[in-house]
Amino acid sequence: MSYPLILTIDDESAIRDSFCHYLEDLNYQVLQACDGQQGILKMETAQPDLVLVDLRMPDSDGLDVLRWAKTQAPLTPIIVVSGTGVISDVIEALQLGAWDYLLKPVNDLEMLRLAIERALEKSYLRRQAANYQQRLQREVAQRTQELLSANRELNIAASAFNTHDAILITDAQGNIIRANAAAERLTGYSQDELIGKSPSLFKSGKHDEAFYNALWETLHTTGQWQGEMWNRSRDGNTYPIWQSITAVRGDSDSVAYYVGVSTDLSELKAKERMLEHRAQEERVLGSIANLAMKFMDSEPFIRQALQLLQQQLPDLGLLSHVQLWHNDAQAWKCRDILSLQGSVITPPPSKQLALAAQSNDAVTSILEGTIRYFLIPLRSQRRDLGVLVLCSDVTDLDDAVEPFLVRLGEVLPLAMLHQESERELHYQANHDSLTALPNRQSLKLLLEQQISSARRRNERGVVLFLDLDNFKTLNDSLGHSQGDLLLQQLGARVRTALRDEDILARLGGDEFVILLPPRPLESDDTLNMAAHVAEKIKKVINRPFQLDVHEYMVGCSIGVAIFPDAGNSSEELLKHADIAMYLAKAAGRNSVRFYSPGLQQAADRRLYLEHKLRRAISQSELEPYFQPQLNHEGQVIGAEVLLRWHNSEDGWVSPAEFIPVAEESGLIIPISNWLLGEVCQCMKHWRDLGLFEQLKTVSINVSPNQFYQPDFAEMVLNVIKRFDISPETLMLEITEGVVLCNLEDSIEIMRNLGQQGVRFSLDDFGTGYSSLAYLKKLPVDEIKIDKSFILEIDKNPDDVMIVDAILSLASHFELTTVAEGVETQEALTMLRDRQCAVYQGFYFSRPLPEGEFLAFLSQGQSMLKDDL
Ligand code: C2E
Ligand code: CA
Ligand code: CA
Repeated sequence: MSYPLILTIDDESAIRDSFCHYLEDLNYQVLQACDGQQGILKMETAQPDLVLVDLRMPDSDGLDVLRWAKTQAPLTPIIVVSGTGVISDVIEALQLGAWDYLLKPVNDLEMLRLAIERALEKSYLRRQAANYQQRLQREVAQRTQELLSANRELNIAASAFNTHDAILITDAQGNIIRANAAAERLTGYSQDELIGKSPSLFKSGKHDEAFYNALWETLHTTGQWQGEMWNRSRDGNTYPIWQSITAVRGDSDSVAYYVGVSTDLSELKAKERMLEHRAQEERVLGSIANLAMKFMDSEPFIRQALQLLQQQLPDLGLLSHVQLWHNDAQAWKCRDILSLQGSVITPPPSKQLALAAQSNDAVTSILEGTIRYFLIPLRSQRRDLGVLVLCSDVTDLDDAVEPFLVRLGEVLPLAMLHQESERELHYQANHDSLTALPNRQSLKLLLEQQISSARRRNERGVVLFLDLDNFKTLNDSLGHSQGDLLLQQLGARVRTALRDEDILARLGGDEFVILLPPRPLESDDTLNMAAHVAEKIKKVINRPFQLDVHEYMVGCSIGVAIFPDAGNSSEELLKHADIAMYLAKAAGRNSVRFYSPGLQQAADRRLYLEHKLRRAISQSELEPYFQPQLNHEGQVIGAEVLLRWHNSEDGWVSPAEFIPVAEESGLIIPISNWLLGEVCQCMKHWRDLGLFEQLKTVSINVSPNQFYQPDFAEMVLNVIKRFDISPETLMLEITEGVVLCNLEDSIEIMRNLGQQGVRFSLDDFGTGYSSLAYLKKLPVDEIKIDKSFILEIDKNPDDVMIVDAILSLASHFELTTVAEGVETQEALTMLRDRQCAVYQGFYFSRPLPEGEFLAFLSQGQSMLKDDL
């Protein structure tokens, strides 16, 4: 058994291959050609049963193939596959004789299969008709010839052809001299009526003069004509026929007779029409499936689908009444979803609606009086839209309607289902699963839309980039489940601080973005508004969060960027808001910063520093410096370790700049660990020199990230042990913010180390929450008054009041106080008058490298004693 041979012509090999694989699986034989020229060649040599041709190809394209085939292979079905989507291309192709078309990309290969099957069926019918006629034609001509030459009666000739096909014989002048019975049946005229008449009697009016002229022209020159034409019967009906006419020459070699054979094509045409109709239905069902993807919601989808049906399949004639009935609180209610005015029809009985709604059949057809109802239940796993009611009072409905409606009834719920899963996927793809907030991807989309709308309408919108302070420490200390809980609560809380139209998205981790849609504001007003919103957000975030066991406080850093000023794309805008957020972090957390063009440079610098910092330890660029701390008698009783970084390209880089970079990049951990080792090594050395007679403590700054490392206490104790230094001489400086973000754990860590003798100093005191209640609970030995209160204490009465308050607080809790940032004699005097215990500042010394610090220890004291 031989399988149909299909030629696929396309310049893209991927498309040819995909067609090829698919069709071969369906048992077709497949040939390929990469352009029109090659395609024509293969059509000539291989004579495929069907051709799939791309319309647009370089050099010679699909239209060339069609032009060639029109004359050379008119019976070969050609299906055009158009990639251009330009409808005029398709029309041109159809005019050139294409049998069908598909639009690229052909995602649904099933469509391809159906198109091929249709075309092959049609082609088979055509070929059969043509073959049969050709044979008949030959036979008639031959027999006529025989009869003529035998000089027998012509009427025998004609009537002898007791065939299905009509046969007419005319004389040279075109007057009918014989007709067979089939001709009588076809034309509706009797033999007697026909004799002597001209076949122009049958003219249907569907062809112009040119058509008949061309016919005669061909007949004269070649002695033969055949083709499709329309005739009119006696009762006025037109009908299609396949007509062939042969000139029969007599002895004198001039035309003696014309023999005409007509095959009635009505049935064939009807069949073709039916095929065409089916194809159209197929296309409509395909379009409905496509529609399902376009709409997120079932109802507008169904409405569109029905509108499409009405436009595309008007001869269904049914859809003049389409309603959606749904069961609402035990009563069936109707929604005229096509909002058709006019005729109101009698509703179908509720009992029938209820039955149909429960039925597993795609369509329930019922007849009530003169009205035929088709009930299609619209339900999928998740939704029940009710019952779609199509009805008609047309009594003689086309039989084909019902099977089509069955398919429609199958397709609609499938499409709904598909739509639901799409929606689900879409939701999942666009939302963060933890907080159910829009995710980065959907934020970007929304942002792009809003940027362009802001540009168009000359408005301004705002992006706030929010990042929690020290979120990592929460995760590290309480575990991820508590971190997740906090993020969820936080998302809900921030939402309450926003307007409905504002968008809150989660980018991932502890990063959130708030999008304030464009408004017609000047940039200053926009800034004010943004600042206001940022404050509001901070406020709701700063309230304690109730986690499973713990109460937890967080701060957040917010970077603000105004659009379209600060960026033309979502990418750029988010980057800029992010940069501003980093600036907020660097400014001491829980703060808000705005993007300005200079910030970009700062961000570049930060990246650059991070890159260099990575190698700073191994390149020996880092070094601990020591800043002396003195008591009220002027004795150096301690030192604060301050890290210094020097490299050949950048010279000295301030810790105020590189420490935040180290914190954000995580480099702070290896750097701090290394530093602690270095410092302890120094301390061991100093102990051996007997310096701890005089020195009480060496203070070292602990970063938030470091403090909440699960093994922090263990690590510190190990180093102490390794260098055999006495734990009491080590003072760890931590800030309030760090402690308060997880009070319970902090206390635990501090107790743990405190039991071994290690001491704690509360750094930058006065800048954070400075809450008495917390201070009471904390096992700290010392507080360091932030230098911002000390630097100008001699000039600013407010600072004096604050310092007084801190000092009295400290004495109440019996804590040592250190004043850092003592720069002047005046400041020192004021602090001494108030019984501050320890002083640190440029007035005495800048931070010094180890050697200089040791020199300062031995020499500097007497000089200072004079001052004190
Ligand atoms: P901090 O812990 O508050 O350190 C005190 C800062 O004040 C030091 O700045 C110090 O040089 C400066 N300072 C001391 N006396 C005076 C004074 O009289 N006047 C003025 N204007 N400033 C004075 P530095 O060394 O630039 O460090 C800045 C910040 O970097 C530190 O603030 C600390 O937060 C961080 N940092 C420095 N070294 C380390 C370290 O080893 N580890 C960690 N985690 N952070 C460090
Ligand atoms: Ca410090
Ligand atoms: Ca400090």
